[in-house]
Amino acid sequence: MKIHEFQAKQMFRRYDIPTPAGDVAFDAARAREIASEIGQFPVVVKAQIHAGGRGKGGGVQLAHSLEEVVSHAEAIIGMNLVTHQTGPEGKQVHKVLVEAGSNIEKELYLSLLPDRTTANILIIASRAGGMDIEEVAARTPEQIIKVQVNPLIGIQPFHCRKLSFGLDLPASVVKEFTQMVTRLYQLFVENDCSLVEINPLVITRDKRILALDAKMDFDDNALFRHKDIVAFRDLDEEDPLDVEASKYNLNYINLDGGTVGNMVNGAGLAMAVMDTIKLAGAEPANFLDVGGGATAEMVENGFKIILSDPNVKGVLINIFGGILRCDVFATGVVDAARKMEIKVPVVVRMEGTNVDAGRKILAESGLKLFTATDMKSAGDMVAKIAAA
Ligand code: GDP
Ligand code: MN
Repeated sequence: MKIHEFQAKQMFRRYDIPTPAGDVAFDAARAREIASEIGQFPVVVKAQIHAGGRGKGGGVQLAHSLEEVVSHAEAIIGMNLVTHQTGPEGKQVHKVLVEAGSNIEKELYLSLLPDRTTANILIIASRAGGMDIEEVAARTPEQIIKVQVNPLIGIQPFHCRKLSFGLDLPASVVKEFTQMVTRLYQLFVENDCSLVEINPLVITRDKRILALDAKMDFDDNALFRHKDIVAFRDLDEEDPLDVEASKYNLNYINLDGGTVGNMVNGAGLAMAVMDTIKLAGAEPANFLDVGGGATAEMVENGFKIILSDPNVKGVLINIFGGILRCDVFATGVVDAARKMEIKVPVVVRMEGTNVDAGRKILAESGLKLFTATDMKSAGDMVAKIAAA
């Protein structure tokens, strides 16, 4: 789960990680209030969306007066912000962070993330902060410093020294930097983060360290023990169908550009079905694994979610009846189909426990369903339908 920059900075403050003074505003009047509380210019007005690259897209503006704060806030709130991370359709902005401007001497890069190969926590830093770090890594890899921290030992002074030397920090900020990285590591571990990224981390002209930007991502599987973080969730930033699916505990991911909706039980089978759809020349519109132990109700909700995707031109249902028996599954499909209007053709392929009873339920339902007996013919059938 991702959170906004202003929320990440609230967490930073709890750990005494230095950030500029500021607050979030949902309208220009509040933005003006915050700026006058800050009491000095320039003030920075920053679009709050779950995507980076806002600066280049016009979502970060400096203001030199209260009037400018108001005009920037009015321009940014409600704008459709397009960055390289939002995709061409962009993202609607609902709020801005208004914070004290900083006198920047140097922009650095710093991030923490789990390294799955070594099972360590990896700290990445670079002197070339502020811009696209992917580009720095590709063109000038020698400018990227990596420090592995074994989580059983935790962060040690030598890790921080390695980072400080690599970043070529002035001696006067090394102590403050060491404290900051140590606290950042603590924040990372205590909150089950999957990413903390500060780009840029700045050194100011008066030689202070400051987190100017803040990006955080959390391990969804650990959210049950962090109610305070779950409270940061912003449904405006998530795909509406993904939000609906998460209510029913369905493993659903909406995929851009596809036209074949599919519902499968078991993640491996779901991957195989997506391959089958592509082999047949079509594109899957989603990933949906209802799970091995799905109930008729889950099948019903999954089917409803697929059918409410306007891009779906055809649906392929592929079920292996194991724990979820074919008759239970068929009942779920029929119940869902009766409750809503099905405007697209549906191909069903199932095998396994009680398959005959399941086929009978589908056949006697009076619904217009196409049936297939093997995966290849099911894929070909639905691809033909979606292309028509
Ligand atoms: P991002 O583009 O979404 O990553 O947003 P950032 O928070 O990183 O802001 C983009 C850029 O705006 C930074 O790299 C800075 O160069 C600039 N910026 C942000 N805050 C300030 C500030 O307080 N003063 C000045 N002069 N520039 C700022
Ligand atoms: Mn940034």
